[in-house]
Amino acid sequence: MKLLRVLPMAQRLLAESVNPGEIVVDATAGNGNDTQFLAGHIGEHGHVYAFDIQQAALDSTAKRLGELNSRVSLILDSHENVDQYVADEISGAIFNLGYLPHSEDLSIVTKPDSTIKALHKILNMLKVGGIISIAVYDGHEGGSDERDALLNYVQSLHQADFQVIKYEQLNRLNNPPFLVAIEKMRSLSQ
Ligand code: SAM
Repeated sequence: MKLLRVLPMAQRLLAESVNPGEIVVDATAGNGNDTQFLAGHIGEHGHVYAFDIQQAALDSTAKRLGELNSRVSLILDSHENVDQYVADEISGAIFNLGYLPHSEDLSIVTKPDSTIKALHKILNMLKVGGIISIAVYDGHEGGSDERDALLNYVQSLHQADFQVIKYEQLNRLNNPPFLVAIEKMRSLSQ
């Protein structure tokens, strides 16, 4: 086995926890790499809800998806409103924080408040055994605030409800992303 880098590891975790035919959320569609991966994985009977606040990101994602567009709802809204669009149980979700790569406006970034609201809602909607992966970048302006808020939030989750893992490449230069992965261990109504 070879060690995976952070972003391939995020996809691997989702592939392990999500079965074909199930519902997944891409909370930050961006240029659609993760949306495309998820749409391929869930098969023709599953569905991906992909959020972004930039039309340019959804256009880029739609272009990448091609024939897979029929398996995806592209939603121009903040991920914190996920419960207004998704009624079903979610089997997994992926967040890739920060700014849209190659965008003209790199100041449009994910923010601590909306990221944590979205995460909180999705944790409640997640199936037992489902996984949420979050790629965290802290090199841009505001990135360290979002990192700290996110780490505070996930560290506060009860260990009987959620297993929380951090995966990080320690010898890479230039602020590489690290991964936070959360597995739901039991129903929250218990
Ligand atoms: N996973 C993407 C890919 O495969 O190309 C990259 C995502 S990019 C690092 C982060 C994206 O989050 C940007 O496109 C940005 O517009 C989006 N974003 C920022 N705030 C958001 C919010 N509140 N809700 C949904 N998307 C948001």
